[in-house]
Amino acid sequence: MVQEYKLFIGGEFKDSSTGEVFEDINPATLESVAMIQVAGAEDVDRAVEAAESGFRIWSRVPAPRRAEVLFRAARILQERKEELAVLMTEEMGKILPETRGDVQEAIDITNYAAGEGRRMFGETTPSELKDKFCMTVLRPIGIVGVITPWNFPIAIPAWKIMPALIAGNAIVFKPASDTPLLALKVIEVLIEAGLPPGVINLVTGPGGTVGKAIVQHPRINAISFTGSLDTGKWIMEECSKTMKRVSLELGGKNPVIVMDDADLELALEGVLWGAFGTTGQRCTATSRLILHEKVKDEFIKRLLAKVKALRLGNGLLPETDIGPLISKAQLEKTEKYVSIGKEEGATLLTGGNRIDPGLPGYFFEPTVFTDVRPEMRIAQEEIFGPVLGILTVSDLEEAIEVANNSKYGLSSAIYTGNIGNAFKAIERIEAGITYINAPTIGAEVHLPFGGVKGTGNGFREAGTDAIREFSEVKAVYIDYSGRLQKAQIDSPE
Ligand code: NAP
Repeated sequence: MVQEYKLFIGGEFKDSSTGEVFEDINPATLESVAMIQVAGAEDVDRAVEAAESGFRIWSRVPAPRRAEVLFRAARILQERKEELAVLMTEEMGKILPETRGDVQEAIDITNYAAGEGRRMFGETTPSELKDKFCMTVLRPIGIVGVITPWNFPIAIPAWKIMPALIAGNAIVFKPASDTPLLALKVIEVLIEAGLPPGVINLVTGPGGTVGKAIVQHPRINAISFTGSLDTGKWIMEECSKTMKRVSLELGGKNPVIVMDDADLELALEGVLWGAFGTTGQRCTATSRLILHEKVKDEFIKRLLAKVKALRLGNGLLPETDIGPLISKAQLEKTEKYVSIGKEEGATLLTGGNRIDPGLPGYFFEPTVFTDVRPEMRIAQEEIFGPVLGILTVSDLEEAIEVANNSKYGLSSAIYTGNIGNAFKAIERIEAGITYINAPTIGAEVHLPFGGVKGTGNGFREAGTDAIREFSEVKAVYIDYSGRLQKAQIDSPE
């Protein structure tokens, strides 16, 4: 019998109003991991009510004191790291070294956000008038709706929750329905760390109902969303109706340029890891390889040898390089794009099929297409599976043009031995992140994370930007002249 998990509202685990449950499945074995309650709109109302009382308490706690809770949470995450990583591999499928990395990212952002508790700086600036003082202070926004995807089941929630908490907000959290158990573990950690009741509330269930109720709720002040472009667009439209602040982290179609002066072995390792790590299910996954024509044949030959050697299987086993896709829907989507690629005239070099590595789960061969043209759908649309498309170019100009031929702009990379090429790429690639001689994946929590164009709406997560994402800036004027002073320098001396 697997355990059934309740909602978490007002500091207590509570039964949902719908009485329904859904099954949380291991995508490698298709075994049940947990049963999860389905929240209804009524539960979202209860969560918002609880968050309102949580906010009244938490927003008055000085930020360095809030930080103490977060530092404790980071320590608990550290102590439970291995247990959480194993559970994550069981719930989400990615291999154990990657799930350990996912928990580590959560530890890092929690410590980072806690440190920011003593650094929530405003600005001071001279007034245009005598005997007047000007400054800015950061204030919490209020109640933040946090909606997350399944590919980083602890790291992405932590990237949102910890900065939102240090900034003094209360939270209504809806995790992806494919990874609710790890979200429940985040709640357990925060309870143990001493977060007061109501400050965080968890409602599990479908995006189309529970997520929608959060997005449309008139008393939620902001939405922080990571997920697909289509859902993000809908959320942005809906949020305009209640004038909510909305920060969006959406998809990617991340390019790697490999120039003819690159260290090819280094580039091979980077492309392999970037394209097939997490079974290609990272928003920063390498999905377009832009190869200089002079190194094309050699690079492809060596790449295919490495791709064919990748071992698929249960992510808990040390010999496994690649786990399953998250779900049947994701498997079918990947298959569909392989068919589209073939129909469009791209050449399939390896992979392209479901595979049975002795487990019934959603396994798909690492797949490489060449002769991909920039306008093809497999070069334009996010597949979110282990599929790499190769495009050939004759110089850096063309490489950058191809890289920028995308509605997305999250991550990007260039492998080159030429410093001039590197700086041109930094200047001209339209992306929130550019790596030089490193893969498209590997963000660090103290740098801003996010993208341009269809990847987002201008916000950045992590780094000091994360505090801004969850704060309002207030301008403060203190007049100690004892008389009415008019600004805009219209009054005499
Ligand atoms: P998704 O379908 O958009 O779902 C993301 C979250 O939104 C889930 O919790 C989902 O709930 C919920 N949701 C769905 N419809 C909703 C609605 N109408 N209102 C409110 N919430 C709703 O995306 P996904 O397939 O899970 O995630 C993959 C996508 O995330 C990819 O496009 C990937 O690039 C992107 N991603 C971006 C970043 C980044 O930082 N830029 C990081 C990771 C992933 P259910 O699970 O219940 O459907």
